[in-house]
Amino acid sequence: MLCIFRNRSNELSSIDMENKSPALTFDIKEDGWETSEGFIMRQIEMPILDEKKNPEDATHVILKINYAGVCGTDRGIFYRAAFRDLIHSSLEKQGQTTRILGHEFLGEVVWQGSMVSHLYNISKGMTVSGDSHVTCGNCYQCKIGENNVCSNEQILGISINGIFAPYIKIPAKNLWPVDVAKVRPEIAAMYDPLGNAVHATTKTDVRGKTVAVFGCGAIGLFSIALLKHFGAAQIIAVDMNEKNLAMAHELGAHQVISLTHSRELVSGYNVDVVAHIMELTGGRGVDVAMEMAGPNSSVNNALESARRGGQVILFGLKDGDFTIPKFSRVITKGLTLHGIIGRHIFETWQTTDSILSDSSNGVQDKIWKVILKEGKGTILPFSDYNNDSFEKAMNEHPKIIFKM
Ligand SMILES: [Zn+2]
Ligand SMILES: [Zn+2]
Repeated sequence: MLCIFRNRSNELSSIDMENKSPALTFDIKEDGWETSEGFIMRQIEMPILDEKKNPEDATHVILKINYAGVCGTDRGIFYRAAFRDLIHSSLEKQGQTTRILGHEFLGEVVWQGSMVSHLYNISKGMTVSGDSHVTCGNCYQCKIGENNVCSNEQILGISINGIFAPYIKIPAKNLWPVDVAKVRPEIAAMYDPLGNAVHATTKTDVRGKTVAVFGCGAIGLFSIALLKHFGAAQIIAVDMNEKNLAMAHELGAHQVISLTHSRELVSGYNVDVVAHIMELTGGRGVDVAMEMAGPNSSVNNALESARRGGQVILFGLKDGDFTIPKFSRVITKGLTLHGIIGRHIFETWQTTDSILSDSSNGVQDKIWKVILKEGKGTILPFSDYNNDSFEKAMNEHPKIIFKM
């Protein structure tokens, strides 16, 4: 069905679409957090821009989604293991019950609000990715240029509707135009998580340094490719999954350490893993320890493996209370701890874009071949979605992407 719309400046806009379209969702009433699992495909209203009714639509666009990345966040929601409170409280506040999930995307602008070109230099027909954190622009942090720690941020697919749908409405200020002649679309759909890895690996100078990466999921693996690119001298990868460790090695890790046979914790950390890292670093410990997984023991492994005066990057997220035995060691070792959240919008995006756009550095190629397996089993048609085959693919590959 061809829908013709007239925006505030009286231009005609048209989108070829049905009134409803399929979206992957969670509904607090119909599904229930404790009584359901997976993503539920629902027919949802097509988003439209109506500036008379919602003046803020002047700064929004309707995107046709081409590719949508699946993140650890989505995995947490799939298993109802994370983000319960944020989803519930935001829906209640908005007077709604259904949340459209997903936050990593590549899409085409098909309809723009009347202020969009003027304010953001974004226009119909552009191919764009965009940040999943919608910041307020008004809080103290936003005002001083630290929008990655905005006090009022909303997150696509969690606290506001996300992108697992053929068409979505999004603020144009969050969009980043992509040159698909330089960055292949499947990779361009991952600027947001790649940006997490860029943020994590640029927090401290890694040039010539020894770095251990604890956790080789998608963002841990991206980080290893970036550490190699940025000139880390020695990269040590730690994970439970042998397949992911093999990928870590292919992406540039000099040594890999399997956690599979190391379940014994002493003082909250894996003694043999830390001993192995000490051995690989001449008894010193690593300059930079990156915690990219989330479990308490992994945090303790990172703290224990860092050398005196070392930097500890904390990215993995897990709910609940953590215990850090011998906490005074953090101080007496003189460690510096960095919590990494989101990306600097758009400083991180510029760095990510520069690295991916330059084919001579091989980063994009490595991610495509090693992590996405050139699309084999990692690119899933959205229209064929079902929980079982999706779950199988999600557990087989560190990163999967929907083709819409
Ligand atoms: Zn993500
Ligand atoms: Zn703010």
